[in-house]
Amino acid sequence: MNKISRKGFLKIAAAAAMGTVTAGALTGCNSASSSVAASGSASASGGLYTPGTYEGTAEGISSTVKVTMTFSETAVTDVVVDTSGETASYGAAAADQLKEQLLAAGSAEIDGVSGSTITSEAVMKAAKSCFAQAMGETVVTSVQLPTGDENNWLGTEPDIDEDAITETWDTDIVIVGAGNGGMCAAAFAAQNGLNFRIIEQNSAVMETRHWYGTIDSSEAKKQGVPPVDRAELLSEISRSMGGRCDQRVVKTWINESAAMHDFVSGILESAPYNYTCNLTLGDEAKWPDDTQISQTKLMFPVQQVDYSSAEKPRNQVFQEYIESLGYSIDFNTGLAKLEKSSDGRITGVIAQSTDDGHFIRINAAKGVLLACGGYAGNPYMMEQLDPLGTSVTTACSYAPADKGYGIRAAIWAGAHLDAEAAPVLFDRGLVAPGVNSGYVESPSSFGGKAFPGTVGQYNPGSQPFLKVNRHGERFMNESQEYDNASHASFQQPGHVYAMIHDANFREDV
Ligand SMILES: Cc1cc2nc3c(=O)[nH]c(=O)nc-3n(C[C@H](O)[C@H](O)[C@H](O)COP(=O)(O)OP(=O)(O)OC[C@H]3O[C@@H](n4cnc5c(N)ncnc54)[C@H](O)[C@@H]3O)c2cc1C
Repeated sequence: MNKISRKGFLKIAAAAAMGTVTAGALTGCNSASSSVAASGSASASGGLYTPGTYEGTAEGISSTVKVTMTFSETAVTDVVVDTSGETASYGAAAADQLKEQLLAAGSAEIDGVSGSTITSEAVMKAAKSCFAQAMGETVVTSVQLPTGDENNWLGTEPDIDEDAITETWDTDIVIVGAGNGGMCAAAFAAQNGLNFRIIEQNSAVMETRHWYGTIDSSEAKKQGVPPVDRAELLSEISRSMGGRCDQRVVKTWINESAAMHDFVSGILESAPYNYTCNLTLGDEAKWPDDTQISQTKLMFPVQQVDYSSAEKPRNQVFQEYIESLGYSIDFNTGLAKLEKSSDGRITGVIAQSTDDGHFIRINAAKGVLLACGGYAGNPYMMEQLDPLGTSVTTACSYAPADKGYGIRAAIWAGAHLDAEAAPVLFDRGLVAPGVNSGYVESPSSFGGKAFPGTVGQYNPGSQPFLKVNRHGERFMNESQEYDNASHASFQQPGHVYAMIHDANFREDV
């Protein structure tokens, strides 16, 4: 077992520092005199920096971001920012701006690029490492927690020595993950005055996913939408899943989503936000009228757009909301493992600072809520737990931070894993002719793999236009739910198909 002790931790940190200094020495022809020195020491030559080229890395959204900086004795003379493994339209596109900012600032403290917060933070962290090396400071790198591998997605629970845990927090509830689930839970806990901490591995809340389904919400009632037949809805959802779902979960949503909406809109529609929550009847999912099924049934679930002309996404509003009530999010703090008592009860977590790698014990008197998302960002889990879904996927606009760590930590602590994966596959990925679906090699991505398509999505893909395989043969009834086309493509060459429509497609829709 891979034991992480304080000594081991310091050794790993020092080795990481030595590694980066050595790399810097090689690329910059820097002398070995720049080996790890006491914090804050100046260069041997008396200038601010030891001249040379240094390299720093940090985890971005979907890749390891690399910054290479060249220093004279007194200034930064060149910067190379490599964010090529990041989401093309956001993080990767920000590289030039981040480089300019680093050059202009002459320090790692820059504004960053809006819309690319996590990539910007990673670039700053990597740049900090370059400055530290150039100034002869010790560079501390986080201990790498187990990731699993291509033969064993689960990996082994880290064994962390008591003396490596240098901080303890006590609370009632720990929420892990400041994403869509975690922020809603935190806002609810804050509203009810509960004693809780919320930790997040990244330096910002997760992107908000705006639309949610509700049944018989106050908004629906206001708009005269007839009540939903709940038993039929439960049956329909279970049928469309082939029974492979936990009906208790579906039932909880059917019965409690209206109250959830009242809670969410209660905050968003009040001062100082005063947003408007809209009801839509599932426009995105509309089907042709000639299917003879009543519109109400087709519109399951009724959807609520949670706000329209808002300035801030919901997760940021919730962040402000909990802060206004005296709570805060512990960013840059990742879950390392769950802790439990001898009778099997979960008693808290051990977390790790992603800033300096130190471990924190968080005792939770009442419970731990894991809201760390799924595992779309983890090719090992994707391939081993959902080989079919993975093989028919062309593009993935997933949350790359979600590497299934919470799921693995829960299983290490004794939790049961659903027997089957339950991915939501949208029939909206696009690849060039001749490209097959499934992972391709991508050295800068986690696990060395990525999907071949762009992360943008082609929404008309969900319309029932004619779909044919590479032989021009039709292979399915196109009027089916999202994931049917993707799954049906499994039987087709390259696991892909072409969709045929003409320029009138908007009218046809
Ligand atoms: C492009 C896209 C659009 C979508 N649109 C919608 C939509 O409109 N409506 C909808 O209902 N659903 C939508 N979804 C699905 C939705 O995003 C997910 O179902 C939902 O976000 C899951 O919520 P979560 O809280 O479980 O995870 P997330 O919202 O992904 O949050 C997980 C959080 O946990 C953090 N985390 C992960 N591991 C650790 C760790 N070890 N320690 C600490 N923190 C950790 C992550 O950094 C992240 O902040 C969309 C998904 C995508 C990819």
